Amino acid sequence: HLSLRGLTKRFEGLTAVDHLDLDVAKGELVAFLGPSGCGKSTSLRMIAGLSQATSGTIAIGGRDVTNVPPYRRDIGLVFQSYALFPHMTVLKNVMFGLEMRKVSAAEAERRAREAIALVQLSGREDRRPAQLSGGQQQRVALARALVIQPSILLFDEPLSNLDAKLRDEMRAEIRDIQKRLAITSIFVTHDQVEALSMCDKVAVMNGGRLEQLGTPFELYERPATPFVASFVGRTN
Ligand code: ATP
Ligand code: MG
Repeated sequence: HLSLRGLTKRFEGLTAVDHLDLDVAKGELVAFLGPSGCGKSTSLRMIAGLSQATSGTIAIGGRDVTNVPPYRRDIGLVFQSYALFPHMTVLKNVMFGLEMRKVSAAEAERRAREAIALVQLSGREDRRPAQLSGGQQQRVALARALVIQPSILLFDEPLSNLDAKLRDEMRAEIRDIQKRLAITSIFVTHDQVEALSMCDKVAVMNGGRLEQLGTPFELYERPATPFVASFVGRTN
């Protein structure tokens, strides 16, 4: 459903992402796992259209979107910093996701309320972000990504600002919603436990390259490289 071929990003003197080849099947949740600086966010930004690939192609559902602007890629984004508008209510924040698209106000509100219900925030539509907990704010960010009914959801370390207990809760909730809606998703993390426990498959990255793509079981039982073995926690 999502198909990357030779995806490459160079900054002056540095290859941040190096010939990434990857297929994510419809409804699958794939983790991008790797140490700081290995190219996870850069890959995600290229998929989202926020950063131009130096070379290579990106296809969604068989359509080449390599040169399509972000808002026409049908992608929902959830980042570490929620980037909610502090002066807007929860409802307005979620409706904002529909503004670039030609949706009537009534339809936008109906869809926003539906997305808010999905993340279990019904009844808090009129609050402002500062009146919500960190976890609730992250749910608003998720609702804003979901409201456009994206065919792909991209998460970039969305839970790293939350405490451990909340993080566990949100992992389960994100997984549940992602499965229920069967949205093809990529979840960036440098946390092995998070990647292995939440995702259908894990893409282990190192120095801009894909070291191995496999199910958590495969990575653990048959690591392709010493790096994968050490990074997923198996050292013998
Ligand atoms: P982290 O886990 O710390 O978020 P990451 O895997 O997301 O790391 P990236 O942000 O993709 O890493 O960065 C990959 C490499 O590209 C790093 O060496 C980074 O310094 C470099 N890089 C990223 N963005 C730019 C930029 N705009 N200009 C120059 N170099 C950049
Ligand atoms: Mg990053």
